[in-house]
Amino acid sequence: MRLVLLGAPGSGKGTQAARLKEHLQVPHISTGDLLRAEVAAGSKLGLEAKEVMASGNLVSDEILLGMLEDRFSRPDTRDGFILDGYPRNLAQADALDKLLTRIRQPMDYAVQLDVPTDLLVERIAGRAKAEGRADDSPESVRTRLKVYDDQTAPVIEFYRQHGQLTVVDGVGGLDDVFNRIIEALVPAKEVG
Ligand code: AMP
Repeated sequence: MRLVLLGAPGSGKGTQAARLKEHLQVPHISTGDLLRAEVAAGSKLGLEAKEVMASGNLVSDEILLGMLEDRFSRPDTRDGFILDGYPRNLAQADALDKLLTRIRQPMDYAVQLDVPTDLLVERIAGRAKAEGRADDSPESVRTRLKVYDDQTAPVIEFYRQHGQLTVVDGVGGLDDVFNRIIEALVPAKEVG
């Protein structure tokens, strides 16, 4: 199954993707994780991305598409994947659609985790304490939420128009949200 998780920073995409990966037995592809690995490795790409990431802005579409193409060319994605953190704007949504059409692996589902903004801020603050991510500073968080509203939210409409969108209530315990996602995916699994 090929699915993309949509939702604001702090909506629980990463947490749910990790669980879905075990349940569906397909790889979890997080563009944030891929970028953080490049930064940690000190690669050329990582050096380019580092400051942009720390500020909460988006790394260039070109870098992201190259990274994704590379990831999709690995054999473990043949039976599907859970994409998390991409697409972040309409140009990326369009590029992904074209890429998946070209490799004949169209998206089955776009699952939006719906969480109100005040709860997002609370969750990110909790994560900042627990993980100490460089982009969880208050200023960067504000930028990330604004970038989400301005650039990423329109992607939801893109998938709605393509008939691929499922909205899931992202408020509640991890298990509750996970079960809601699984329920939303059942029809596709039955069709195969
Ligand atoms: P995330 O872990 O998904 O919140 O991503 C962390 C940071 O990596 C973001 O704030 C961006 O700076 C960068 N990033 C991740 N995915 C993308 C993307 N699809 N397009 C542009 N930048 C991205």
